[in-house]
Amino acid sequence: MTYKNIISAILSVSLIIILSSCNSQSIDNTAQESEIDLFAMDTYMSLKAYGTTGETALQKASDKIKALETTLSVTNEESEIFRLNSAGGKKTEISSDTAFLIERSLEINKETNGAFDITLYPVTKEWGFTTGSYKIPSQARIDELLANVGSDNILLDTDGNYVSLKNEANIDLGGIAKGYAGSCAEDIIKAEGVTSAILNMGGNVQTIGTKPDGSSWKVGIQDPSDSTQLVGTVEVADKAVVTSGGYERYFEDELGNIYWHILDPKTGYSAKTDIISVTVIGSDGTTCDALSTSLFVMGTEKSVDYLKTYRNHDAVIVSNDNTLYITKGIINEFKASNEFSGYKIITI
Ligand code: ADP
Ligand code: MG
Repeated sequence: MTYKNIISAILSVSLIIILSSCNSQSIDNTAQESEIDLFAMDTYMSLKAYGTTGETALQKASDKIKALETTLSVTNEESEIFRLNSAGGKKTEISSDTAFLIERSLEINKETNGAFDITLYPVTKEWGFTTGSYKIPSQARIDELLANVGSDNILLDTDGNYVSLKNEANIDLGGIAKGYAGSCAEDIIKAEGVTSAILNMGGNVQTIGTKPDGSSWKVGIQDPSDSTQLVGTVEVADKAVVTSGGYERYFEDELGNIYWHILDPKTGYSAKTDIISVTVIGSDGTTCDALSTSLFVMGTEKSVDYLKTYRNHDAVIVSNDNTLYITKGIINEFKASNEFSGYKIITI
């Protein structure tokens, strides 16, 4: 993680904390507040819960997030994904967490016409996005690697939790894992009887229930061009709010061209998109995460079609022509910040 990314991660965590604690006079002061901060899945996370069982709940949730990081990391040689990617195509046993994520990724790959593809990993790796040792690969190298990209190279046997990767395919769950970690944490926290919690996991926010006083959480959507500013806020309860954008992780060449970490599976290059940032809001954090990555690749036109077809998710899209595309399900809960109040709003 670069110095800039660390600063921006700290700023965005503090921004959400400020937001979740504004209107503090209306928070029920009798609700006991617990907080755990951790660094996992390459980002700073801040987990907050209210009520007497909050501390135990957060501890268990944090243990699960760390365990998932160990299982799902693409670079850690001890991880299940590393073992699978090194298996040379052999049938490999995987945990139910990994099996679920592969299955869900395959479904989203179909729904998004291939915009979300976990078999992009060899290409992402070549660009250095998973290690931070960035380089621009030659077109010939990208073509060679793209030949083995394609979700039909994943043979998943869900009955026994086995998987094999054909044609030297390798996978990376980086576009969906954090959302899943948020969903697992949500289940664990709720099982401990907590009815009010907010988990800020670097670009992914998972809310549990409402604020202690019964009102909605106000979650900030970060300004893509300035991590200390907000595009606006959305008021939600029991929902995940997940943002993807090119500004999160990128490098620049000597000519000033910017290459970001979300790639288009069709080209093997950073997705050329008219979207600056996309926030997906819904009750399933896993899907919201995969979708935020997918819609970024798809661009506004295809994203709008997608959101109209699959009405179970809301979204706020910031496009590069000073327009905010907002689904009707969230329009009344969205409030633009002063800086974005001049943007055209298109309701979808
Ligand atoms: P972040 O995890 O940084 O918040 P995203 O959820 O958008 O952002 O995920 C980006 C990550 O997803 C990349 O770092 C890479 O591991 C993976 N990825 C990049 N492009 C794609 C794609 N088209 N389909 C699936 N995964 C992708
Ligand atoms: Mg994602």
